[in-house]
Formats: sequence, structure tokens, C-alpha cells
Amino acid sequence: MSQALAAYACDPAQSRGRRHPEVDAPLLAPNVRNPHQRDRDRIVHSTAFRRLVYKTQVFLNHEGDLFRTRLTHSLEVAQLGRSIARALRLNEDLVEAIALAHDLGHTPFGHAGQDALNDCMAAHGGFEHNLQSVRVVDELEERYPTFNGLNLSFETREGILKHCSRRNAQALEAQEPGGIAARFLSGTQPSLEAQLCNLADAIAYNAHDIDDGVRSGLLTIEQMREVPLFARYQDQTLAQHPQLQGRRVLYETIRRMLSDQVYDVIESTRSALAEHQPDSVDAVRRCGPLVQFSADMHAASRVLKSFLFRNLYRHPQVMETTHWARAVVQELFAIYLNRPDEMPSAYAQREDLPRAVADYLSGMTDRFATREHARLKT
Ligand code: MG
Repeated sequence: MSQALAAYACDPAQSRGRRHPEVDAPLLAPNVRNPHQRDRDRIVHSTAFRRLVYKTQVFLNHEGDLFRTRLTHSLEVAQLGRSIARALRLNEDLVEAIALAHDLGHTPFGHAGQDALNDCMAAHGGFEHNLQSVRVVDELEERYPTFNGLNLSFETREGILKHCSRRNAQALEAQEPGGIAARFLSGTQPSLEAQLCNLADAIAYNAHDIDDGVRSGLLTIEQMREVPLFARYQDQTLAQHPQLQGRRVLYETIRRMLSDQVYDVIESTRSALAEHQPDSVDAVRRCGPLVQFSADMHAASRVLKSFLFRNLYRHPQVMETTHWARAVVQELFAIYLNRPDEMPSAYAQREDLPRAVADYLSGMTDRFATREHARLKT
């Protein structure tokens, strides 16, 4: 049995609800799911969720079968987030829903694709992947007879919109006053569940990018020792298992690193909660960020992040694919803008053509975008 939710957790019974009213209980079956469990199920059954398996995290989807994709990344974020949520008596179902949806708006080819599309859209309102994740669940999924999108609860949508520019926040606020963008204008915080997903995202990618980086041969374990956080857990591992070699050293080091980060977040967040004593979600919103690393772990994690940035994300071999991917996205954008009929008619007939192209292009998997590029490039 799960424990009772804490007073500072998002209680599903107090959900701020969905944009389109629904009769929550099915007519013939007992209502066995709360609103956030329903959100999670809607996300898992969505088209955008299935596409995540063919979208790049760091390595292109076709470069190797064992690298993380956006799908396995999202599952790892959900797993880490749920473990921490349980320890803090937060709403685990909500954390799972947010984590599984947080990357739905990602373009093909990872950050290279997002940057290229943002450049293409510069004169048309830009492109932000967090905002696109909200567009996917609010507008672009077509699964229900009477409304667009998945009609998720406020709490899940709020967690999905983890960053937002001021301009986009103002536009969202105009459509939905006091809605999910309001906090970017008022400088308040989202729920603890949303804050947690943000941190779980970073913990997950820092760890799995080491694994994928070493697997790909672009990073070596020796080189990783430059990072004190890694060296500390590798030393611990070898002290306890002096005979251990190869991959198992790497896995055990990463396992210890992950587990220590999880305990660090739990302890530091408990202290912050004890200090501020928020007794409701509204009180949480008025505090500063409460889900956090200790100062030491925060500093150590930044060193790891900047190491990965310099040595993996900017590795010449990764940059080569990045340049190629940028060109594919830019060329596809120009082609669809000139020849809208190359897109499915639902996109081709839209009046806001640049945004329609961005919606269509950003939904593509790596391999579909690659095939379309080969088909259309003269
Ligand atoms: Mg992510």
C-alpha cells in the first residue's frame, strides 16, 4: 500500500481539472483511476509517445541499438522520479505522467534539430521544445471525438511546461488566464512533482550519457576520472571489488553515483521542506525551488555536466552528425514551406503555414525525417 500523500503534495482529489470538461467516471465501469493515472495512460497510448523510440537523445537512433533514445530516457526519468516521490510522499502518479510526457515535443535529431527549427522559425514566433510538448498534449494529438489533444489535467500540463520564454508565457496566458504559464510571469514555482521531474531529468541524462559515451568509444573510463564525482565512486567500487573489470566497473560506478544523487535529493529536499514548512501546494508555489541537491552535490553535478558538454556533446564525431542534422531540418523546412502539398493535407491546408511545418517536422522521428529528406531533396 502506498503511504498517504504529504500536505505539500498534489492531491488528485484537488486537481484543478481539465480544459475540456469530461465525465470522469465511465458510465459502465467503476472508476478505478485518479486523474493523474488517467493522464499517464493517455500519454502512454499517444502517437507522440511511440515516436520517442525513434528519436535521438545524443546518438542518432540508427547509430546503435543500445544507446538511449528519448523513450528509454523518459522511462529512466520516470523511474528515478517515482523513487524520490515515494520517499518524499509526493504524488507518484503525477511524477510518472510528467516524466513520460516531458520530451514529447522534441524534434528529430535531438538538440541539433531543435536549434535548427528554432532558427527557421525565428520570424514566426520561434520553436521551444517544452512549449511544443504542451502543444502535442493540448492540440496535436487527435484521439478524441470532441476535442483536440489529450485533455490532460492542469498539474500534468504545468509540469510539462518546465521552461518558457516571457513572450510565449504572455501568449499562453492570454489564451488561458491564470493557467500553466502564469508562474513564468509571476515568478512563482510549480508543484514539487514538477520540480522533481526537472531534477530527475538531469540526474538521468548525466548518468546515461556517461554509459552511452563510453559504449560509443567517444569517452574512455580513464578520461571520466577527470570528473571527481565519477572518480570517487569508481574508487569505492574498486576498493570493494578489486578484481572487477571492464563494463561492470562502469555500471557499478554509475549505479553508486545515481543512488547517491537520489539520496542527496531526498535529504536536501527534506531539509528544505522542514525549513519552509509548506502545508499546501499553494504554499509550495510561493516558496523558492524546494526540490534540490545539497550545495556539494550541485557543484559536483555541474562539473560532470560541463565535462559531458566539452567531451561528448562537442565531440568532433557528434558535431559532424549535428551539422548534418541541422542541414536536414533546415532543408526540409524550406521545402515544405515552398511545397506544402508534400505534407499531409491537414498540415498543408493550415493558414499558419510556418507553424504547421514546424508541427509536422518536429513530430518526425529521426529515420522518417532522413527518408523525407532523401525523397524531397533534388
Ligand atoms: Mg529529458
